[in-house]
Formats: sequence, C-alpha cells, structure tokens
Amino acid sequence: MDLQVVKLTSLIGDLLDVTKINSGKIHLNESDFDFEKLVLETVEELQMSTLHKIKLKTENVGTVFADRERISQVITNLISNAIKYSPDAVEILVDIKNEGNFAIFTVEDFGIGMPEDKKAKVFEQYYRVSGDEQNTFPGLGLGLYIAAQIVERSNGKIWVESTLGKGSTFCFSLPLVDRKIN
Ligand code: ATP
Ligand code: MG
Repeated sequence: MDLQVVKLTSLIGDLLDVTKINSGKIHLNESDFDFEKLVLETVEELQMSTLHKIKLKTENVGTVFADRERISQVITNLISNAIKYSPDAVEILVDIKNEGNFAIFTVEDFGIGMPEDKKAKVFEQYYRVSGDEQNTFPGLGLGLYIAAQIVERSNGKIWVESTLGKGSTFCFSLPLVDRKIN
C-alpha cells in the first residue's frame, strides 16, 4: 500500500478510537496471553518498516490478561514515537521485565526529548509539545492519549522519563495473571 494511504488509514483509525474512548464505547476483547511473545511479534513487524535499529531485550515475564491487539497497538504507538522523535539516533532500546505482580514494558530513545513540565501533558488528547523542532514532526497528538486510555482500562499504568535534547523513556505496566499450578 502507498505510504500516504497507510498514514491516512492510521489517522482515521486513531480518530475512530478517540470517538469510541470518549463515548465510553471502547470494547476490550480480553484474554490471557504471553506478554513476551506479543512484544516479540510486534517488534518484528515494526522492524520491517524502519531503518532505526530496535534492540530488544526480553525475558519470559509471564501471562497478562488484556486485549492482545490493543496492547500491540500501545507498543506500536510508543515505538513509532521513539522512531519519529529520534531523527538523528539510530538505536531504540526495548525491554520487558517483571516487577512485583506487573509486567513492565520500556522503550528508550536518544532523540529530541521534552522539557520536564511537558511530561504529564503528553498523555492528554490532541496535546503536542510546542517548539520549532516539533513542527517538523507531523501528528495529531492522539497516539499517547489512546495508549494511556487502553493501558489504564487494562488496570495498568503508563509514564515517561525524558530529558530535552537527550531522549525519552516511555514505560507501561500490566498486571500479571497468577501462574496456574498444574
Ligand atoms: P500521533 O497522533 O500521530 O501519534 P503525535 O506523535 O504528535 O501524533 P502523541 O503520540 O500523542 O502524538 O505524542 C504527543 C506528543 O508527545 C508529541 O507531539 C511529541 O511532542 C511528544 N512525544 C511523544 N513521544 C515522544 C518521544 N519519544 N520523544 C519526544 N517527544 C515525544
Ligand atoms: Mg505519536
């Protein structure tokens, strides 16, 4: 498919998602799934469409209960941002780990970063960090809003650490399903 068509399709998808979220009509099709496997699959697909090098460090963190496709969408949104906002840094680091009863996903980039006071705002609807450099990266400011809504509705949390001019680290957590004893 033509790149412009792909972009337009994903833009329309985001706008539809926001309508669903805001009207409370978003349906999560939840099931148990292996978190590591989903991360591997999603990263493999993203790697095929970028020249950035996504360095992946995974381990078996266990099973989560959530909407598998929606969580893949969250991972895609975060990694796509890491790529988009790192025009001069080739490497993107992705890793997953266990912390207590949670699976934690982390993506770190060495891109443009953002000022401290903008960190909380980026999860708001239509919010984009202002500044000359930002205007060269097209977008609507919906990706992180959608990601945050999906994660929070899956009983997880999403957060960011960032330094202007150095890079950003986005993380989200999902509760682990108790391991079944056979
Ligand atoms: P889209 O709706 O296409 O995703 P967007 O990328 O602008 O557009 P979000 O993904 O919601 O929207 O991100 C909101 C804002 O947060 C961005 O406009 C950008 O300013 C900032 N941002 C997000 N990810 C990063 C990152 N990895 N590094 C630096 N800034 C970021
Ligand atoms: Mg985005």
